[in-house]
Amino acid sequence: MIPLGSCTMKLNATSEMIPVGWEEFSNIHPYAPYDQTAGYKILINDLEVKLSKITGYSAISLQPNAGSQGEYAGLLAIDAFHRSNGDQQRKICLIPESAHGTNPASAQMAGMKVVPISCDKKGNIDLEDLSEKASQHSNELAAIMITYPSTHGVFETTVTDVCKIIHDHGGKVYIDGANLNAMVGLCKPGEFGGDVSHLNLHKTFCIPHGGGGPGVGPIGVVKDLAPHLPSDPLKYEPPSKNVGPVSATNFGSASILPISWMYIQMMGASGLRKATQVAILSANYIAQKLSPHFKILYTGKNGLIAHECIIDIRPLKELCGVEVDDIAKRLIDFGFHAPTMSFPVPGTLMIEPTESESLAELDRFIEAMICIRHEITQVEDGTYSIEESPLRNAPHCAEKVISDDWQQKYSRSVAAYPVDLKGRNKYWPPIGRVDNVYGDKNLMCSCPSMSDYQEES
Ligand SMILES: *Cc1c(COP(=O)(O)O)cnc(C)c1O
Repeated sequence: MIPLGSCTMKLNATSEMIPVGWEEFSNIHPYAPYDQTAGYKILINDLEVKLSKITGYSAISLQPNAGSQGEYAGLLAIDAFHRSNGDQQRKICLIPESAHGTNPASAQMAGMKVVPISCDKKGNIDLEDLSEKASQHSNELAAIMITYPSTHGVFETTVTDVCKIIHDHGGKVYIDGANLNAMVGLCKPGEFGGDVSHLNLHKTFCIPHGGGGPGVGPIGVVKDLAPHLPSDPLKYEPPSKNVGPVSATNFGSASILPISWMYIQMMGASGLRKATQVAILSANYIAQKLSPHFKILYTGKNGLIAHECIIDIRPLKELCGVEVDDIAKRLIDFGFHAPTMSFPVPGTLMIEPTESESLAELDRFIEAMICIRHEITQVEDGTYSIEESPLRNAPHCAEKVISDDWQQKYSRSVAAYPVDLKGRNKYWPPIGRVDNVYGDKNLMCSCPSMSDYQEES
């Protein structure tokens, strides 16, 4: 399990991936004349129709290559809309404090001025502050950017009020759709008040995104904004109509669209809804099972969360000095990739299991987290100091564990087999912990020189 919160690391099924290798998809030049890509266009159009039905938006552009590029394209559309109404002065973009870092960055790139909105103690958008700032900037208000469910992992019940306040002041609502995995089949951003959203096909719609790409960050827009979608870079269109292209090719990373098309086609409407329900259920299962051991930072009114949960490590750090890094590294000994660290709140871990993990895998993760909590208790009660603990010395690579010179206060089996693996393969990390920041501060080139190659041959 790779439980990275906000990243939606879900199963990339083989059957979804197979068509990407077919030369009918993989060997088409992005600038091939349209009369030679009629088949491709059927898939592209059909995917647009499907995404439009899922989101409730009336038009889709598949051009942006990432969620962040979708944000940029969406804000340019909003800006072009205001300009076409003679409202050149609408340049203020309201963004809640909990936002993903790409939101304010995109607003700046689109030439807007960011005005932050505070969140209340429970992590929700502070409606009073929002109303105040919206009134104060009424005449210059371009947009708000919100994420739903929020990056705090909660379905904010005031979302329609938030949208209404902005609309009343003539602004547009950008709903960051990166958390669409909690909405597909249950609700549609285009119906509860959004004017534009990006989707991350490399999150919600199964395109693999380990190591950074390639991605697809299409945007959906309401009717008003449809004329302002990015234009085809190969076709001249008058600049008054649109914002120009945001990428070098009209359909962005077209060659990986079959993955998302296959996912939607194979799941069907009821399968997609079920996936969303199971994703929310799995996250709540983890939150419930971990809540006696860790503080769950934010929950909604009824004590539930959306599709991801944030556990707060700061109180434990205060008690005994344990860091989020220690937990992240120790999870490697149990065979898990770490959750997201310190986003959206520093000193926390954000866990998103998605619908892809089996109950057995969720239980294995919960068991690991509870075991780690016991190790933290051992530091609290003085069994060993944090420096001597298996937490700070994690991960334990094979070389260290089999070494004849074992100096730790805990046993080798605690180091490498902290829980009974019940016959499963043990994952051995290739290397122990290094000073995290050292590498960032001291760059070194590891490229071998040409003479090294000569000696080898
Ligand atoms: C991932 C993410 C983005 C940015 O998407 P990229 O494809 O990485 O550019 C924006 N907002 C949220 C909430 C995200 O999780």
